[in-house]
Amino acid sequence: MTNTTNATNTANAGNPANGTDPKPRTVAAYAAPAPKAPLARTTIERRALGAHDILIDVRFAGICHSDIHQVGEEWGDGIFPMVPGHEIAGVVAEVGPGVTRWAVGDRVGVGCFVDSCRECDNCRAGLQQFCTGTPGTVFTYNGVGRDGEPTHGGYSTQLVVDEGYALRIPDALPLDVAAPLLCAGITLYSPLNRWGAGPGRKVAIVGLGGLGHMGVKIAHAKGAEVTVLSQSLRKREDGLKLGADDYRATSDPATFTDLAGTFDLIVNTVSADLDLSAYLGLLRTDGTLVQVGAPEKPVTVNAHALLGGRKSLSGSMIGGLPETQEMLDFCAEHGIGAEIELIRADQINDAYARVLASDVRYRFVIDTSTI
Ligand code: NAP
Ligand code: ZN
Ligand code: ZN
Repeated sequence: MTNTTNATNTANAGNPANGTDPKPRTVAAYAAPAPKAPLARTTIERRALGAHDILIDVRFAGICHSDIHQVGEEWGDGIFPMVPGHEIAGVVAEVGPGVTRWAVGDRVGVGCFVDSCRECDNCRAGLQQFCTGTPGTVFTYNGVGRDGEPTHGGYSTQLVVDEGYALRIPDALPLDVAAPLLCAGITLYSPLNRWGAGPGRKVAIVGLGGLGHMGVKIAHAKGAEVTVLSQSLRKREDGLKLGADDYRATSDPATFTDLAGTFDLIVNTVSADLDLSAYLGLLRTDGTLVQVGAPEKPVTVNAHALLGGRKSLSGSMIGGLPETQEMLDFCAEHGIGAEIELIRADQINDAYARVLASDVRYRFVIDTSTI
């Protein structure tokens, strides 16, 4: 990755060489004007292109359940108006004069963060999502950038981002099915990598939504034996097509007796609080349950469920820039994109309701040309 330290010091420099307009630009977007309010069309300002900035024409933006949590202030106070969207795929439209990584026309993605300190141990290790310096991990929306301005996400027609925080979308991946990889894809790829999903390993994915279906595809491509644990058998056929070897309903108590002591790794993608003790019972000795779902309420666990069998309970949050690029390349190599339902911008509020009803197969993606 290009070192772009102090990039923002040169903000507003413009690009006389190629005629870049150094002024901020007004772009169309969909925003929630207030907590829990329906999203509506609006306009926002994107900063003037700095020396190391690129302007992206956003083509597609995925709807992540995290967007809904944040519009609803389920994780704490939000910044409003809020333009959500951190599964962004588009094309470079302009580059600042100091940009070395990108050219106009390149296919790029932006995920959950757009800046970090670049100097702390985590940033140096490529774990920008855990930045401990200043300004810390600057989230793509509902965050504050170095310039002190609120960040706005991908439900918009254009985005300005530092060149070091964009990822290359390989040509083999269509942009619409690539967009969800920038959050859902990396959020599952990272723990599957870290806890060694592969041949000879039994992996369970809890919840077959946006994250879960990416987990099934990626774990299967890595050669693991994959089981889906879903609330019902309603999506069983889909799950098997996506690459699952087995599919069980968690509403059936027999699931927890039949599969006791089975899995090396369980990844819980559920957006609601679950009693994790029952799921820990499905792990083998030394198995790990990784929590990636981020519900409003605390998850509960009975300590005894961890003791017998020396089980581990862990968490994982998205992934850093190098691993996100690795994931995109892996998905391109294995022909993996998200299963999407492409929607117009005026369908965003309906899509939110359907996500909340677990009625998504398996990611809503906004065609941003309809904004
Ligand atoms: P999603 O598409 O809504 O999928 C969640 C799935 O969880 C649903 O499809 C459903 O699957 C299951 N589920 C929902 N409510 C449930 C309930 N009450 N009890 C049991 N199962 C339930 O959401 P997503 O976009 O995949 O996101 C999932 C969670 O991960 C959210 O909390 C989100 O904020 C979080 N997240 C975390 C990270 C991270 O870095 N850690 C990144 C992105 C998102 P079934 O119908 O199959 O049961
Ligand atoms: Zn997300
Ligand atoms: Zn840092």
